[in-house]
Amino acid sequence: MNFSGGPGALPASVLRQTRDAIEALPETGLSVLGMSHRSAWFRGVLDEAEQNLRQLLQIPDNYRVLFMQGGSSLQFSMLPMNFLRGHAAGADYLVTGYWSAKAPTEARLEGITRVLWDGAPSAYKRLPRADELQFSPGAAYLHYVSNETVEGLEFKAPPGLPGVPLACDMSSNLLAAPIDVGRYDLIYAHAQKNLGPSGVTLVILKDEFANRAGTGLPTLLDYRTHIAARSNYNTPPVFAIYVLMLITRWLRDEIGGLDAMAALNQRKSESVYAALDAHPETYVPHADRVDRSRMNVAFKLRDARRDHAFATAAKALGIHGLEGHRSLGGWRASLYNAISLAEAQTLAQWLQDFACEAGA
Ligand SMILES: *Cc1c(COP(=O)(O)O)cnc(C)c1O
Repeated sequence: MNFSGGPGALPASVLRQTRDAIEALPETGLSVLGMSHRSAWFRGVLDEAEQNLRQLLQIPDNYRVLFMQGGSSLQFSMLPMNFLRGHAAGADYLVTGYWSAKAPTEARLEGITRVLWDGAPSAYKRLPRADELQFSPGAAYLHYVSNETVEGLEFKAPPGLPGVPLACDMSSNLLAAPIDVGRYDLIYAHAQKNLGPSGVTLVILKDEFANRAGTGLPTLLDYRTHIAARSNYNTPPVFAIYVLMLITRWLRDEIGGLDAMAALNQRKSESVYAALDAHPETYVPHADRVDRSRMNVAFKLRDARRDHAFATAAKALGIHGLEGHRSLGGWRASLYNAISLAEAQTLAQWLQDFACEAGA
């Protein structure tokens, strides 16, 4: 059982298909690792991945679906390079955790950058309430992170003002549940947490917003290059995009779509939080209850001297990847889509058992 924060677990059926595809793809008889990015086969993979995503997320027709490289960290730079450079009114940022704190640093290189709310003084234990935010009506955009992967905080609804473009880093919760894509102007998510292996970053971009991008950008850092080339300008990560496509099939055919996925994710996280809450003498969850993430459950042991015993017991049971992010320490159970309900329940049961043993 792999509760790693990222790269995250992938479904067993997708891993089996991937193993076979490395030897020989059923469609071509060649290894996926040696397939040309100019082949009709790969065009088909790009098109199917896009179509499946359009269907799963109900993406409106006036949005482009792009497969890019550079991870979400490059999006921290590309967003302001394309849309903030030279903008008189600047951009708004919410800093709600480790990842969203990195975005304004890149934006400041390009233009006026306002941090509307900074959760650092409250140790990133909570998200801002609506009455704590004063948005800027003329801003180039508002940027936020929908799920803080390290601290385990998740927005339940998008913040922002109607009329101000909304840009969101959904790296750790895209495809975990349905979203209203039409509310956003730009969504990005690298694959390695919830969508596939590392190497590809998904960008969903509204046409009207893309048209506002500035000029004079390096070719590869201009979103319009990737729109015009339909994600095949230079050699894309063929393998990562193939596996991402398999994930979209799995979500559609084996899970039954995002409503079904959301219901499972809800039950998974409820069972793990319930185990922590049942033993306040042993566990200290990081996030305030109302802002808890369905994807990443961050917590500490009340008695840090038990950390070693906790790690040893987890390993003995085949429970892996629970170490917290290096910036926060403690423990974190990441319950990405590929984690089954049974696996989450096994973890929850063991958390209860460990607490009872500790108390005995
Ligand atoms: C992991 C993570 C990142 C960093 O992504 P890279 O692809 O490694 O650059 C950015 N944002 C969020 C929300 C993350 O969870």
